[in-house]
Amino acid sequence: MTDLTVMEERQVIQSLSVTQVKAQVQQIQALMADMMKDGEHYGKSFEGDTKKNLLKPGADKLMFMFRLRPDFEQEIKELPNGHREVITHCKVYQIESGNKIAEGVGSASTLESKHRYRNEKRKCPECGMETIIQGKEEYGGGWICFAKKGGCGKKFKIDDPVIAEQKIGKVENPDIADVYNTVLKISKKRAYVDATITATAASDIFTQDLEDILPEEKTTKDLAKEAAMSGREEILNQTAEILKSKDGNGLNVFTETEIADERKIAKEAKDIGELYDQHDRLDAERCLRIGQTEEIAF
Ligand SMILES: [Zn+2]
Repeated sequence: MTDLTVMEERQVIQSLSVTQVKAQVQQIQALMADMMKDGEHYGKSFEGDTKKNLLKPGADKLMFMFRLRPDFEQEIKELPNGHREVITHCKVYQIESGNKIAEGVGSASTLESKHRYRNEKRKCPECGMETIIQGKEEYGGGWICFAKKGGCGKKFKIDDPVIAEQKIGKVENPDIADVYNTVLKISKKRAYVDATITATAASDIFTQDLEDILPEEKTTKDLAKEAAMSGREEILNQTAEILKSKDGNGLNVFTETEIADERKIAKEAKDIGELYDQHDRLDAERCLRIGQTEEIAF
């Protein structure tokens, strides 16, 4: 065999694999445009995130499409004060050949701020609901157990220690064992998504701009919709977006009940100022729950 034939063979192998990778990327792009929905199969992990993050349902689709099977191994590391970290290794096998083609790793810990801390709210000593708001000055100020949010309507003086001395905001979660299972699942999901991206060579796609993949008409329609919106609608839409937020693991930040309550509050808002107040309050709450707490002062 001459040097030349060796070189030619190498080039053939190399160009073949590039073609295969390209074909695979095109296949995933087609799948994303046809079957994957933004916010369901992939999405941003926080407001303003420009990256597309593969979510578990999207990874399921890719695994199915490329006929792959995951296999998991988990290790638990005990940490001080009842905390623990879970590390998951996910191996990906081709179903037909049984060959291992990729490996992914994921970790999650109860020390992550969304597990470690709770956002304690003022609680009504009468009915036990977390529905205490500060009353408006023109109605005498003080604290009110807000009936519109399901409270009992009782009023308290602004310096009443039963309300004023309650510890609120970011406090250590006293029942850390309650989130062991959540952390186990999150760790598994992270390893699974990581392994799927590696196995399908999909990493390029999930950092691309959305406009490259979605049909053009959608963007134009969105722009027209935005242009048609006036102040009130715009703030309502922004608030709705906040309520739909998902965290880094694709889990809903707000519960169904909370969303329903907030919709009611928005509907009963007397002016746009109240809508802005609601927007800002929910935005702060969302940041707190997702764990971006640095900018929030207590
Ligand atoms: Zn009450």
